[in-house]
Amino acid sequence: MAFRLTKIANAILDSLYPPSCYFCHRPGAWICPQCWAKINFRSPQKCPVCERGSYLGLTHPHCRRRNELDGLFYLFPYREPWRAMLHDYKYRFVRRLTSVWQQLIATSLQKHHPDLLRYWQKEKVVIVPVPLHPSRRLWRGFNQAQELAKIISQISQRPLQLLAGRRHLDRHQAKLNAQQRASNITPANFFLRRQRLKGNFLLVDDVVTTGTTFRALATLLKKHGANHVSAFALLG
Ligand SMILES: [Zn+2]
Ligand SMILES: [Zn+2]
Repeated sequence: MAFRLTKIANAILDSLYPPSCYFCHRPGAWICPQCWAKINFRSPQKCPVCERGSYLGLTHPHCRRRNELDGLFYLFPYREPWRAMLHDYKYRFVRRLTSVWQQLIATSLQKHHPDLLRYWQKEKVVIVPVPLHPSRRLWRGFNQAQELAKIISQISQRPLQLLAGRRHLDRHQAKLNAQQRASNITPANFFLRRQRLKGNFLLVDDVVTTGTTFRALATLLKKHGANHVSAFALLG
């Protein structure tokens, strides 16, 4: 009930108070045209294995490992005001932000990184959102990774599949704090809704920090037959 009320209250607040720019706080838009023009869509991308610079975050040919990620691309650095914008989207249910993220992703891929878009199309990737823990999903009402995956699916014209699910924490993991838990994620934390896979996959999540979640999922997908597995995150 409290959750529903918060959601409704936020929706009313959103309509009463028009958005203001996350960068300069001027009212009118979530990102005003002046600040939009200054956005850097060229975040330096790194190879997810050796962490050295890499074009489009693709894993260097000599860094490729059978059970590793074949690429990891993030849109913007994990700092303000991007962090606040993502936080509001996830926890304050500011659903109107969906269209802003949509525009940012489309601009990034179509205007600044068409090669990445072409790579996904050439590889015929199937888009897989990183699953949320079921209890968190219930509380939050939506899975932001799934929303983002939908956006990417529309832009890239590649299909989306809810292929992976999350298992309940085991006793050992339940005792760990959030940080320990994040670094303890293994393929055993997930299950797949199909056992035999083929082809290439693109994992989608909102944030990548250590990359353990992406890696665990990539390993699991590859053990079940996936060929290439790369990843996309909004912030990294
Ligand atoms: Zn502004
Ligand atoms: Zn490398």
